[in-house]
Amino acid sequence: MIDESKIDRIKKSRPFSLFDIIAISLALALCIGVLIFSCATRVEGETLIIIQAAEGITKRYSLLEDQEITLHVAEGDLIVVIKDGAAYVKFSPCRGKDCMRMPAIRHAGRSITCADQRVFIIVEGQSNFTVIS
Ligand SMILES: [Zn+2]
Repeated sequence: MIDESKIDRIKKSRPFSLFDIIAISLALALCIGVLIFSCATRVEGETLIIIQAAEGITKRYSLLEDQEITLHVAEGDLIVVIKDGAAYVKFSPCRGKDCMRMPAIRHAGRSITCADQRVFIIVEGQSNFTVIS
């Protein structure tokens, strides 16, 4: 009696293990899906630039909003332009104009520095992670 019920249980347990495999693969697929989704949202998510001026004033601007930012620096106004998801220095009163020659920045970690006017612009990668519980 006892043995038969054990055999029955083992027999019945087999399809369940198959279900386990399906469940695990489903969970894996879900994980991969979440990963792809989080990557996609990171790309599409709002990217901010941090502008640090000489006075220690740090401001954040969205790269999604086209705008012109005027910074009052030591020798006049430095103009930062945000256009089509990228930022660049349109005008700077600095001597070298190196910052104006720098290519537009759009990816996290990229920066433009104007050493002369002590302005530092960096793209901050804002993470839009959703906490998976
Ligand atoms: Zn400069």
